[in-house]
Amino acid sequence: MENLMNKIVSLCKRRGFIYPGSEIYGGFSAVYDYGPYGAELVNAIKREWWKNMVQLRDDIVGLDSAIFMHPKIWEASGHVAGFSDPLVECKKCHIRSRVDHLLAEIGVEADEKMSEEEINKIFSKNKNNLKCPNCGQNDFTDVSKFNLLVKSNLGNFTDNWEKEPVYLRGETCQGIYVNYKNVLDSARVRIPFGIAQIGKAFRNEITARQFLFRTREFEQMEMQYFVHPNEEMKEYEKLREARWQYYLNLGFKEENLKWNKHKNLVFYAREAYDIEYNFPFGFDELEGVHARGNYDLSQHSNFSGKDLSYFNSEKKKKYIPHIIESSVGVGRTVFAVLTEAYTEEEIDGEVRIVMKFPKNLSPIKVAIFPLLRNKPDLVKKAKEIYDDLKKEHMCEFDDNGNIGKRYRRQDEIGTPFCVTIDFESLEKNDVTVRDRDTTKQERIKIGELKEYLKEKIKI
Ligand code: ATP
Repeated sequence: MENLMNKIVSLCKRRGFIYPGSEIYGGFSAVYDYGPYGAELVNAIKREWWKNMVQLRDDIVGLDSAIFMHPKIWEASGHVAGFSDPLVECKKCHIRSRVDHLLAEIGVEADEKMSEEEINKIFSKNKNNLKCPNCGQNDFTDVSKFNLLVKSNLGNFTDNWEKEPVYLRGETCQGIYVNYKNVLDSARVRIPFGIAQIGKAFRNEITARQFLFRTREFEQMEMQYFVHPNEEMKEYEKLREARWQYYLNLGFKEENLKWNKHKNLVFYAREAYDIEYNFPFGFDELEGVHARGNYDLSQHSNFSGKDLSYFNSEKKKKYIPHIIESSVGVGRTVFAVLTEAYTEEEIDGEVRIVMKFPKNLSPIKVAIFPLLRNKPDLVKKAKEIYDDLKKEHMCEFDDNGNIGKRYRRQDEIGTPFCVTIDFESLEKNDVTVRDRDTTKQERIKIGELKEYLKEKIKI
């Protein structure tokens, strides 16, 4: 499976999906940049999520809140005091590791949410069996807790800066909680309703490995759903069901998904599950679906001094809404989609690599080729078709090299349809359309091409 990881990373670089951050300066750990096809894939994934979460739902609205927020927000949320991972440093090579991850390697369960004391106890008991993942030695410092919030120097001209720094947000949902009242007062929503947002989050991750899985800058797609306390668990079950179905609709194989129920719940949570995906290094968290009680709004109410309760005008009753949430990273989704799509297969005695993305996620939907680049009539016709189709889909024009080579390139970037204009096209006004998955070719009338593709691609 390590092998699959290397293959995906190398294809992503070679074909312009994902580059290591700041590469010409020697790289920048745990930060990645999306290339031309990666940016298309990211946009398609976000579009799909937004469509599912907002466009198709009568009870969910969107939000785009700022990355910089009042420092008090991170105190209220508990991040300043408690958003930390347990860390040890190898005394030999000075590489830092997360203790819960080291313990997991030898099959001992620990949780980053445990207290320092609890985790220290488990660490001491198992210390002799642990190995530094970098140098293999067994000589560690004691466990300490490492806060993950990333500080900025915004506002460092105030006296209070050292005590109350401005952070880059560690999660997007805080922007939702602090705007809950604004949305309630300005949009046509009533409980139960949700607020959805896509945006960047930043964490000082101790060990950032495994490609896009754990990066220090990443995007989250989060939906917070506000409910009456008595409805929390019913709505939670509905959300879990909807999120599972979402991945199946995205074309994920069900055997590559599984639920993981949290054993160590934070004190306010009613229930918490993760949806895990079978990444090339094994199953791990793709998304969290959590029932959070009324913790978030109560905390912000206490810290801000603003009443964040909801008034049910029919029943004349006031209460603090409970929240259920769905939270997933864009990068982890991209990684899962790449893993799901990566295929090597033999066609006519030759191995081909093909990214079998669901058609609505493919970065390029249609590639248009004139059979030969030195025949002006063919090129002109192909250009006309390209100019027409690109109004509706992301298209690519390619007249470089032989057709087989052009197909291979499009297979590797996962283009579902290649349209070739040949000499017959000039006489009969038709083209061949080659299907990525079957490699079968069909002749389609140029006049019917748009409709044909639209039907097949269906966004
Ligand atoms: P983990 O246990 O893997 O550190 P978490 O439980 O802290 O993750 P949450 O705070 O619940 O993660 O964040 C919700 C989602 O955001 C995760 O399910 C994941 O998809 C994404 N996410 C969190 N941290 C990262 C990261 N460092 N890089 C990429 N995506 C991330």
